[in-house]
Amino acid sequence: TDSLAQTDPEIAQAIKQELGRQQNEIELIASENIVSKAVLEAQGSIMTNKYAEGYPGKRYYGGCEFVDIAENLAIARAKDLFGCEFVNVQPNSGSQANQGVYQALLQPGDTILGMSLDGGGHLTHGAKPNQSGKWFNAIQYGVRKQDGRVDMDEMRALALQHRPKLIVAGFSAYSRVMDWAAFRAVADEIGALLMVDMAHVAGLVAGGVYPSPFPHAHIATTTTHKTLRGPRGGMIMTNNEDIAKKINSAIFPGIQGGPLMHVIAAKAVAFKEAQTGEFKLYARQVVANAKVLAETLVRGGLDIVTGGTDNHLMLVDLRPKKLTGKAAEKALERAHITCNKNAVPFDPEKPAITSGIRVGTPAATSRGFREPEFQLVGELMVEVLDGLALNGEDNNGAVEASVRDKVKKLTDAFPIYGQ
Ligand code: PLP
Repeated sequence: TDSLAQTDPEIAQAIKQELGRQQNEIELIASENIVSKAVLEAQGSIMTNKYAEGYPGKRYYGGCEFVDIAENLAIARAKDLFGCEFVNVQPNSGSQANQGVYQALLQPGDTILGMSLDGGGHLTHGAKPNQSGKWFNAIQYGVRKQDGRVDMDEMRALALQHRPKLIVAGFSAYSRVMDWAAFRAVADEIGALLMVDMAHVAGLVAGGVYPSPFPHAHIATTTTHKTLRGPRGGMIMTNNEDIAKKINSAIFPGIQGGPLMHVIAAKAVAFKEAQTGEFKLYARQVVANAKVLAETLVRGGLDIVTGGTDNHLMLVDLRPKKLTGKAAEKALERAHITCNKNAVPFDPEKPAITSGIRVGTPAATSRGFREPEFQLVGELMVEVLDGLALNGEDNNGAVEASVRDKVKKLTDAFPIYGQ
């Protein structure tokens, strides 16, 4: 059969350009990573052709013996990695994993308690525009104004007042360790279930450098594509057999149809990689790199929300330099450093502008960056942002071009995908 370049040159070209972008830019988006060729190979495989509604050994279609091998391996490896008894590897995304849990354990109108978007929570933790905020009575806790840390007193007070059926702990933009045991204690106080969404830190948990949600969580959910460095997808874990049964029915036939068997195969590959000593070193390096990046940015006159980081990410408060997240994201992008604008807690700017950026180390650590490279990355960021503050958006071209050259040298020295 014909190659992609022959059958669809436009898409082939877009993929080639995206490859070039990934090779030649420093990726600091905290939720992204660079997967192995083995993960890509499994995900790009003929398992995409197979319908396999149901679960291994109990399918609604014939011919599932080989995709069953893939799904059973994914499940066994995930259990081993996270030390839990039941795993559903079928959620197509982190959002669908969370939706699956809600479908399994809640009724529309039930009360849930999750972290607000402003505080660093995810949309699926009860934010207004999300289904979780529309179909449930979603109460939200946040972080403390004085230090940006999660406000456990507020969380407990809201729990006692509103008596949620489910408490959601976890985050998309929070740089500290969360005390899962303290969440569980509050859940037990009111007879609620605790769901930990460890999407951002799953790879750090697997690598032993961030506290595991087990044994505290009744249910843990995750994406598989962030620090865990697998294909884009989701997963649900529990130690409770009754909850596990409800979750399996909620994912299929509750909210999904045929599972993405090629993605499940790639999840299995990523989990095998995550079982290695090499991955433990990777997770350690991700955290060490984040500390160096935070220190370098602070030395350059920026603020980090909470003052630093214990994980792979940090929120940079740009107000000391009188810059917005929107302008900073654009300027850094022109210099080939990719990140996203992000509201800081109690941000006075609109969500489309913001006073901050979120940066993280998982992707660049995967290409081999260590402390010296991350110090340089921090210095280059400060150079761009200082230039932006001095010259304005339209006149910072010379600084951005000079940083772009230095970025090129750095990315050339740490090639990816046959660069
Ligand atoms: N949960 C958390 C904590 C996340 O950060 C994210 C993604 O950013 C998700 C869930 C949703 O994952 P997905 O984008 O795969 O739907």
